[in-house]
Amino acid sequence: DVQKDLAMLDASKLRINLADRLKPVPTPENVVFGKHMSDHMLVATYDPSSGWSEPEIKPYGPLLLDPTSSCFHYSTSLFEGMKAYSGPDGESRLFRPELNMARMVRSAERVALPPFDPNELLKLIKRLVQIESRWIPQESGYSLYIRPTIIGTRPYIGMGASDYATLFVVCCPAGLYFRRGAKMLSLMTLGAHVRAWPGGTGGHKISANYAATFLPQQVAAERGYDQVLWLLGDRITEAGAMNFFVVRKRSDGDLDLITAPLDGTVLPGVTRDSVLSLAGAHGHGITLPNLPPSLKIHVQECTFTTSDLSQWAEDGTLIEAFSAGTAVVIVSIGRIGLEGETDIILPKQESGMGPVAEAMCGMITAIQEGREQWSGWSV
Ligand code: PMP
Repeated sequence: DVQKDLAMLDASKLRINLADRLKPVPTPENVVFGKHMSDHMLVATYDPSSGWSEPEIKPYGPLLLDPTSSCFHYSTSLFEGMKAYSGPDGESRLFRPELNMARMVRSAERVALPPFDPNELLKLIKRLVQIESRWIPQESGYSLYIRPTIIGTRPYIGMGASDYATLFVVCCPAGLYFRRGAKMLSLMTLGAHVRAWPGGTGGHKISANYAATFLPQQVAAERGYDQVLWLLGDRITEAGAMNFFVVRKRSDGDLDLITAPLDGTVLPGVTRDSVLSLAGAHGHGITLPNLPPSLKIHVQECTFTTSDLSQWAEDGTLIEAFSAGTAVVIVSIGRIGLEGETDIILPKQESGMGPVAEAMCGMITAIQEGREQWSGWSV
């Protein structure tokens, strides 16, 4: 039985080869996201005759790949985005990393790349973060961004699943993704460009989903908007590489927190899940900053359209909109351009954030940095 002889990804087999010379770590004010890669990376390779290699942590550097490698031609690649945070106690922390690992397993399965044990990868990532801990900025709001990736490396141009793969994890310090405070984000719908559709791959974090978003993103930027609000027909799915939320005032004084359901056209964001859980827990075990504990936030995972948004803006029930993702945490939306023709203007906020967005951002950041404990989310 050939299958039985294939080695599994095994953290106990880790080899560590540290860099002789370490790079200078940028000061927080000089952090440019994605530019300053840390000293080391984790690498493991898979081949169909032996399975996963012994994983190695080694000095950061280029990969040597055959030009016929599957990932270059057929987008057999996938990635994750997660962060390590440093709290007031100086400890390094990850935020709900098992959700990233589970999503990564699903992504690998979707593009027919070899499977791996998510618990072993998480152990390896923890080891890498320990080694790179001097790269985690100590300032609140800053973190070390972690980019686990798997690429198909089958060196054969014939079309087919890649039975060779390289798994790597690289890290870089991250500051505030969008400059917060001064300005709320603007979004633009572009109905002609569809990011995800029923039966498609939008619910997976595979690289192929992202290549096609850069042209529409450029169009939105040329028209003066920050990000694209993705539509499927007139249904709103998500915004840029973030999940999208609307807050509506109900006639009973409570709030509805509305977001698109996980029907395969929306990425199941870790931040999305956290926002929905915290909304449900507000007043029951947790109190979100600056919101009355008696305020009930009703979570509605349901389809909603641009016409709904216009209607809610008109009748005054649309009180805020925000986007959520690992990179930004939470960012409030100030303006939504429908095909760049009519703008929906959301209520102006002095702080640059609506009250629910600000409360969510405050609580999630506090949990990430270990200033608050909740449900074992920070590890
Ligand atoms: N939607 C898309 C398309 C994304 O790429 C991301 C970033 N992973 C998100 C939403 C937010 O997901 P998360 O909260 O897990 O970062």
